Amino acid sequence: MQSAEEITRCPDCGQQIRVDRRYVTWCEKCDWNVDPTPLLDLTPAWRLRVEQRLVDSLYRELEQGAIHRPGWDAARISANLLSVLLLLLPLAAFLTGTALLVFYRPLWLSIILALLALTIAFVLRPRAGQLDDHQLVHREQAPELFAVLDEVAEAVGARPAAAVALTDEANIWYHQVGWRFEPVVGIGLPLWIGLRPQERVAILAHEFGHGRHGDLRSSWLIGNAHSVLEGLLATFSESPLDQARREWGVEELSGGTLFSRMVNATVGAVVRGLSAVLNRLELRSGQRNEYLADRRAGEVAGSEAAAHALERTVLADTSYDAMLRALRFPSELSPLDAVRRAVTEVPAREIERRLRVSRIHGTRTDATHPPTYLRTKLLRTRPATSARVVLGTDRSRALDRELMEPAEQVLRELKAEL
Ligand SMILES: [Zn+2]
Ligand SMILES: [Zn+2]
Repeated sequence: MQSAEEITRCPDCGQQIRVDRRYVTWCEKCDWNVDPTPLLDLTPAWRLRVEQRLVDSLYRELEQGAIHRPGWDAARISANLLSVLLLLLPLAAFLTGTALLVFYRPLWLSIILALLALTIAFVLRPRAGQLDDHQLVHREQAPELFAVLDEVAEAVGARPAAAVALTDEANIWYHQVGWRFEPVVGIGLPLWIGLRPQERVAILAHEFGHGRHGDLRSSWLIGNAHSVLEGLLATFSESPLDQARREWGVEELSGGTLFSRMVNATVGAVVRGLSAVLNRLELRSGQRNEYLADRRAGEVAGSEAAAHALERTVLADTSYDAMLRALRFPSELSPLDAVRRAVTEVPAREIERRLRVSRIHGTRTDATHPPTYLRTKLLRTRPATSARVVLGTDRSRALDRELMEPAEQVLRELKAEL
């Protein structure tokens, strides 16, 4: 597209800047206006410093090749261990309840106490990964897509996908669902449609990489440990009734309430402490997992394709907005074609700006993922040059054709919600 080429000067350093009215005007020399709408971040400064130090040291270790393979570093072992201990809590409550019923008398008292213990066990119980009601695509509906998924899974060494969930989100994910931990790949149309063939292989390989490295089991475990902590916090915090009583001043400090307040305060402090420790362990092991899944993606799809794929993900908002606009104001262009066009129209300079924004925000945009610019940098520092799975343009189009019908269903549902 021809846009009137305008030139201006950077107010900070005087550098000449090209102006494209459709995008943010910024300076590539001094980063002036690189992020015109900075996020309001209420995270305390000390926490940001801790996170930044973690991110930097992890990156250095990976860059120097000190971490070769996925596996169990201290942070991951500790995070898993802590989670297992926390998950023993509901089990202990269950056993206590049962033992009370069997051994403790008088019966009426044992029933009351057992009920209390069993309720705690029930509230804190671990839950299987669930799938929200997504448009599911099964093997027989999309043989070509599943053939590609299987090839990637095999190259990575991960279990093949049991189903694909087609969504209207701008992301691609991999979950393990139910107590059999069945792998489901989530394909978000706005992101998927804008990817070039080999970038699709890269993102799929990254996701399967998480499966291969056992990251999902860890995150299931840690996620459930977090729910135990939240459950404890809810149980041992001041109830709304207590608050109301205090506000109305109708409360006299009896021994009982004083005791329960002390218990609440102690448990609350311990729980908050544990949750901070768990978060910190998770930050390191989570980011490490992302880098290693990226490396896997590089080996399977080629490092350049894997880096490009990551750079595409900074266009997620653009793709999503283009899809919504096309649904709201229908034209001869289908919503998915609108996404394709929007993504290819974005100039390299705008992509570069968004990557720089990821550098400024460091870890904070999403603490589970390292900043995008570091991920692409690492991929290019230690490149795997050849690709193990190659997806040609024709085959990639065939995948789109297979997904046409379920995709229309997804778009219809989204349109109905608008
Ligand atoms: Zn400047
Ligand atoms: Zn990932």
